[in-house]
Amino acid sequence: MGSTDRIRNVAKRVAKWARAGHQMVVVPSAMSGETNRLLALAKELAPAKPNDAYSRELDMLASTGEQASSALLAIALQSEGMESVSYAGWQVPIRTNSAHTKARIESIDDAKVRADLAAGKVVIVTGFQGVDELGNITTLGRGGSDTSAVAVAAAMKAQECLIYTDVDGVYTTDPRVVPEARRLHTVSFEEMLEMASMGSKVLQIRSVEFAGKYRVPLRVLSSFTDWDIDINEEAQSGTLITFEEDEHMEQAVVSGIAFNRDEAKISVVGVPDKPGIAYQILGAVADANIDVDVIIQNLSKDGKTDFSFTVNRGDYAKTVDILRSKVMPGLGAHDVVGDTKICKVSIVGIGMRSHVGIASKMFRVLSEEGINIQMISTSEIKTSVVIDEKYMELAVRALHKAFDLDQPVI
Ligand code: ASP
Ligand code: MG
Repeated sequence: MGSTDRIRNVAKRVAKWARAGHQMVVVPSAMSGETNRLLALAKELAPAKPNDAYSRELDMLASTGEQASSALLAIALQSEGMESVSYAGWQVPIRTNSAHTKARIESIDDAKVRADLAAGKVVIVTGFQGVDELGNITTLGRGGSDTSAVAVAAAMKAQECLIYTDVDGVYTTDPRVVPEARRLHTVSFEEMLEMASMGSKVLQIRSVEFAGKYRVPLRVLSSFTDWDIDINEEAQSGTLITFEEDEHMEQAVVSGIAFNRDEAKISVVGVPDKPGIAYQILGAVADANIDVDVIIQNLSKDGKTDFSFTVNRGDYAKTVDILRSKVMPGLGAHDVVGDTKICKVSIVGIGMRSHVGIASKMFRVLSEEGINIQMISTSEIKTSVVIDEKYMELAVRALHKAFDLDQPVI
């Protein structure tokens, strides 16, 4: 949605689908660059200590991007001869909690949308935003339009949710880092969940969680194809996120390598090794609505231990502040230290369930490159390591090659 030309292209594409007999609900994101532009303006005027009142205004501001693109798309559809109406989140309404700038959808009232569809209209619902109990406009976090789209698809019990984006599908890794990366025709929902949470920027993680919870078939496809390509070809393009494992044809053990430069490591040093410590530390962090990722606690020595975890880099300063002011005094810890120059690299694949030695192969590859591993975390279908940020590309390339991801799957 970068320009009026692009919006016209979207309108023509939507009209093509509608004329083929589909009832269409479209969830646009803002025109490209618009959310960044708005947030940069806010930053110029921001108070020294941003607080909740500031976050509320960020949502008032950022939500306008989607309101504008939605109205423009409705207008473009009308000039294509389609009846169309757009709604802001609060008009539907899409109800969320009150966590400004990272609100979660709680419910969607589908009555208005259904009535419009029944009347033959194409319905546009703003992405990225909702309304809380008190009527405040909220937003769902960067990339939140994906989540809006999946949530609306779930509420409407849609046949499929098509996410048109600036890449033509889900790749074995980011092609900007590894040019040999391949597009996956299908990927299992669980792998997609891991990849999204491990830093693949293709879909916002909450959108994948929603798709899983409500079993919404999801397809990621390119918004850059010509609007008039064959509709059946378009319907088969991109990457389908599947729920059936046997539909998952590409049975490589590792399906993809994800990475995330957006994290920071924090250690609480010299905490007493006794019950309740993890809760005291992480409870305070969770109360501030901060997501924690990799967690490790070291072996204790003389009854004291170090407790480390990672958070989103944007939450780093706030987390250190909370730990220093609220947690450290009561805990008798020595210090809170941190490192923002880290990254997380993960290998993901449902094949890891039934194969042994995959994690150790990952560690071998990294050791052969001389890369030190600072933290490790695993699940049934992924292994993640935290390493120095400056080795990220090297690690991703070496792993992509070692796990044969540049080879076409037969
Ligand atoms: N416009 C919002 C953003 O830039 C939401 C989205 O595009 O998904 O993050
Ligand atoms: Mg997006």
